[in-house]
Amino acid sequence: MKTNTGLSAVPCLRLKPGREFPLLAGHPWVFGGGVASAPAGCRAGDIVEVLSAGGDFLGMGTFHPANTIRLRMLSREREKIDADFFSRRFERLLVEKRRWLPPDTDGFRLVHADADYLPGLVVDVYGKTAVFQIHTAGMETCRAEIAQALRDPAGPVRAACVVERSDAEARRQDGLKPRPAEIHFGNVTGPAPFREDGLPLYADVIEGQKTGFFLDQRDARLYVRGLAAGRRALNLFSYSCAFALAALAGGAEEVLNVDSSEAALGLGRSILLENGYGQALEAGRVRFEAADVFEYLEAKTAELRGFLRGPAGDAPGLLVCDPPAFAKSAAHLEQAKKAYGGLARLCFGLLAPGALFVTSSCSGALSPEEFTAILRIAAGRAGRRVRILKTLSQPFDHTTLLAFPEGPYLKTCVMEVVD
Ligand code: SAH
Repeated sequence: MKTNTGLSAVPCLRLKPGREFPLLAGHPWVFGGGVASAPAGCRAGDIVEVLSAGGDFLGMGTFHPANTIRLRMLSREREKIDADFFSRRFERLLVEKRRWLPPDTDGFRLVHADADYLPGLVVDVYGKTAVFQIHTAGMETCRAEIAQALRDPAGPVRAACVVERSDAEARRQDGLKPRPAEIHFGNVTGPAPFREDGLPLYADVIEGQKTGFFLDQRDARLYVRGLAAGRRALNLFSYSCAFALAALAGGAEEVLNVDSSEAALGLGRSILLENGYGQALEAGRVRFEAADVFEYLEAKTAELRGFLRGPAGDAPGLLVCDPPAFAKSAAHLEQAKKAYGGLARLCFGLLAPGALFVTSSCSGALSPEEFTAILRIAAGRAGRRVRILKTLSQPFDHTTLLAFPEGPYLKTCVMEVVD
């Protein structure tokens, strides 16, 4: 290990004894309690060198004097953080992520923030379009370098269009205001086309939610595709109907999409048309309902039960329920548990023996065990015996580091009602 020689320009942060081990295993954070001495005069977002108690160089990170996460790791090397740094990192991540992407897929998460050692930065790629989000003060000063590295015709990504969607409320935790969508390079003439598992899709990169699409459900969508043959599917919280497309591609007979956003359903309609389901739409085999899911389930219980039972002789229905994060932070956890439980109870109540139920929680504050417990209690209240067919998490491009248990957030449970 190298010993710090003290680069004069970069201040040093020294850890308490023993606090280097999580970092050596790849954990990307140091909390306030792990810091022996913080550099004097350092402001939010400043880049610092990280030293062990014994003075060994551990890497570089971004510092925040007021955040409980005092330091976020950027590198294990001593390097200059400029456009070239971002280019090198994007190149490496591109190779690593393309290695495991399924065939005929060019929509993926190139950078998953802290877990990819680019803290506070998300980059999603949709075909030729790159969309980035900045969440932290440390990344906020690197905006121009990030955009440059993404568009550079001699760089690794060579995006034809670079859009920034730093409009998340989470920015406030680092003292930053949400910003309106910004096009840094190229022209946006409509939703960005890309492919997932051989199917054409679109992301609304300017007005859509997150960066325009929910790439994190790719594995679950592929699994649903394998289950859907001959079934009617109810797709709750459908957004742009990506689960509906997966179900139809897998041979679903009918799909009913429900979401409160008219715009999302409009985009979903275009996606299904592009995929050749125009006739199914006209015949009413693919439908869209702009409604609040909770109210809709209460109001239409009998109708939905009938829909999911299917015509006599057909396979029982498939219910996909993928709500937004009810717990945006640990503070909302108890309230969120009630919401997940109430929703699951309503869903189980619609399902007859043989029906399939796919449901998710993207609240990072809720553990997989807690989510399963919520489902167990809801099934009990609805009087259903249920078999778990599969549990899924976020796909590999939403990196899960062995050393970073705080990272994973998505939980999906695929179940079959036994009786
Ligand atoms: N399943 C989608 C992603 C869902 S994101 C996919 O695979 O792409 C959550 C969706 O829930 C958003 O589209 C949002 O518009 C919708 N939503 C949030 N609260 C809602 C509510 N109470 N009723 C209906 N839809 C809601």
